[in-house]
Amino acid sequence: MGLKSKIVALCFLATFVAVGSRYAYLSSNSVELPKDLVLLKGANSPGGSDSASLWYNSPYGLISVKEKWRAVVAYREAEAGFDKFEKHFGVRPERGLFSDGTVILEDIAYDRNLVKWTLVWPIKGSGPSEAHLNTAIRHELAHGFLRVYLWPWGSGEKVIDTPKSRYGSPAPDWLDELAAMSVEDDLKFNNRLKNFQAMARASAIIPFSDFFTMEHPNVSGETDPSAKVTVKKQLVGGKTITTTTIIRTPSGPGDFSIGTKFVEQGAALFSFLTEKTSDLQVFGKVSSWIQQGGSFEGWLEQYAVNANNKADLGSSLTEFEAKFIAWGKALKI
Ligand SMILES: [Zn+2]
Repeated sequence: MGLKSKIVALCFLATFVAVGSRYAYLSSNSVELPKDLVLLKGANSPGGSDSASLWYNSPYGLISVKEKWRAVVAYREAEAGFDKFEKHFGVRPERGLFSDGTVILEDIAYDRNLVKWTLVWPIKGSGPSEAHLNTAIRHELAHGFLRVYLWPWGSGEKVIDTPKSRYGSPAPDWLDELAAMSVEDDLKFNNRLKNFQAMARASAIIPFSDFFTMEHPNVSGETDPSAKVTVKKQLVGGKTITTTTIIRTPSGPGDFSIGTKFVEQGAALFSFLTEKTSDLQVFGKVSSWIQQGGSFEGWLEQYAVNANNKADLGSSLTEFEAKFIAWGKALKI
């Protein structure tokens, strides 16, 4: 019996309650499939004609799920993840393979040349009206897209769900988390900004001199006590698959644990810099700068010169931080 341990995803997530109206397209009992989400049948199904899961083809790649409504959820999440990642990082992801966990990707016969990434992630809820529980999927996809397209490990392996020794990718942890949050839906993202505003008003932000070099609190073990860590082991086809999920619930204004501060500050940084520079792809540029050996402060200094400081960001980290905090305190959210 082979033993295989695998972290499917390690992430710092806050669950939230959303209004149902945004998902009205899923609220009826008869789930309408988007025209380009197509059920694969019989021999056309990568799982074969006796597959226990349903297989679909879509512009985003293959989707393998238990039920039809789950395919629609996965499709919508991929759609949002693809579009927003391209908008902010300038790269259109290629076709991949998503499974809600019913299929363990190593156990199926599929040609890796057909897909450029894979993600196994559970779909929560018991029906289509609960699609709002699943926006973590686009977040996880964006973690993966950053690694696959901008910060590869170097082996050429394009698999999203295979974190190695550190958080996400070789990118700095703050950038990895920021990229994932950049594709989130407005409700979730605005909650983060509200939390950040409370931090700014309480003078509780992490100094940027630490923020830009620190390890993700999930990795360094500084996750706050309210975080719930779930380790699930499944024996599939003689392999033990270990899934580790870290979930905090709920986070809200006044939660100043290091893990919350780290992610909410990253979200606020994304919002602040894209707004001030009027450049939706500014973090794509910051990412390239850092990848070439530069620091965020170095990027800031050259930006101040090249843009004649029209964004009024300051030209040192200290100045930048003061402007960031003032912006956060005054946010209208
Ligand atoms: Zn994340």
